[in-house]
Amino acid sequence: MIDKNFEATKSRHSDISDLELHFYNMKYRGINDSVMESGGDRPIFYLFDDKNFGLISFMLSEDSPYRIHKDRILFNDEELNFRNILFTRLGNTLPYYYFRGPHGMFPSLQDSKILNVNFNPKCGGCDFCFYVYRTKQLENITPQQGFKKIEAETGLNELSCLDEIAIVTGRFESEDMLKVHILDVINQAEERGFDGRIFYIGSQLVTPSCIGEISKRLKNDSDRFRCAYTIERFFDRSSIMHGSKGKKDYPEILSDMKNLKNLGVGKLEYTYLVGIEDFDEFKQGAEELVHIAIPHISILRKTGRNANQLTLSRDYVEGGPDYICQIRKHYEDLYGGKIIGNNFANLWLFPISDFNFSSYLNRLSSV
Ligand code: SF4
Repeated sequence: MIDKNFEATKSRHSDISDLELHFYNMKYRGINDSVMESGGDRPIFYLFDDKNFGLISFMLSEDSPYRIHKDRILFNDEELNFRNILFTRLGNTLPYYYFRGPHGMFPSLQDSKILNVNFNPKCGGCDFCFYVYRTKQLENITPQQGFKKIEAETGLNELSCLDEIAIVTGRFESEDMLKVHILDVINQAEERGFDGRIFYIGSQLVTPSCIGEISKRLKNDSDRFRCAYTIERFFDRSSIMHGSKGKKDYPEILSDMKNLKNLGVGKLEYTYLVGIEDFDEFKQGAEELVHIAIPHISILRKTGRNANQLTLSRDYVEGGPDYICQIRKHYEDLYGGKIIGNNFANLWLFPISDFNFSSYLNRLSSV
C-alpha cells in the first residue's frame, strides 16, 4: 500500500527528480541493513545524479523496500537509477566537532570551510532529537577543552582558513551561560587566527543585551553573525519540546525573530523539521515568517525510539513522500523558488555545479 503511495507520488510530482523522490521516500521508509541489525555501525551514503547531490544517514535497520546490498542501496531488490555510494559507517558516539568542506568528506556549498562545534551536547529537550537518543553517553566540555581536542586530534592549530564556525548546542541553564559559551568559542577561535562568521543554531539567544554583546564582540559586523532560531514546528510545541525549547508559543517566537532581525543579526533563519506537524498548521506558520527569515529545513530523522516515532504528524504518516513534496512546493511558492541551504537533511539537494564534487569523489576512491 505504501509502495503504491510512492508510485502515486511520482506521477503527481513528475517535475521532481527520481533522486529527490527516493531521498524523501528513504527518509520516510528507512532502510533494511543487516550490518546495523547485527549491532554494527550506521551507514552514510552519497546519492547523486548528473545535477544534484545528497547525503543520507540511517540510524536503524527496519522493514523497508530499501535494502543495503554490497555497499549499494536496492529498491524492491532492484538497482536505483541514480548513483549511490556507501561513503562511510559511523559508530554511536556523537562528535564534539566536524569539518565541512575541503577539510573533510562532508561537502559544503561553494566549498565553504566550516567547523561545526557542539561542546554542550547533553540535552533532553525534544522528543524527536537524536541527541536525546544518546544523551547518557554525552558529556559537556568547555570551548577551551573542545579546541584543545581539535588541535590534538587533527593537528590543526591555525584556524584562519575557516569561513564559518557553526555553534550547535544542547540547552544551557540560562541565556547568560549560553552567551558566555559563544563568547568563549569566539575567543578560542580568534586566538587561533579565526576571523570568519559565527553561526548560532538554537533558540536561547533572544534578549537585546546578550545579542548586543555578541554583535559587539564581532565588531558589529552583520556579515559575521548568522542565526537560525530553532522553531522545529510552529504550534503545540510544548507537547514534544521541553524546558526552554518548548516554552514559547508562536506569537512569542515571532516577536523574538523580529527582535533578532532588528538587533544586528545578518542572515536570519529558522529551523523547521518536516514530518512533525500537519500541513495546515505548517502553512499558517510558514506564511507569517516569509518577510522575516529564511527557513533552514530538515526532514525528520528516525531514531527508532518510541518518543521519536510519536512526534510524526498524521499527515506525514499518511502521505509520506507526497506530504514532503507538498511542503517543498509550498515553500517554493512562498519564497519564489528553491531554498538551497548548507544542510544535508534539507528538502533541496546540493546542485553539483555549486561545489567541487569531483574532489570528494577522487578522495573517496583513494581511501
Ligand atoms: S534542544 Fe536541540 S539538542 Fe536539545 S533535544 Fe532539542 S533539538 Fe536536541
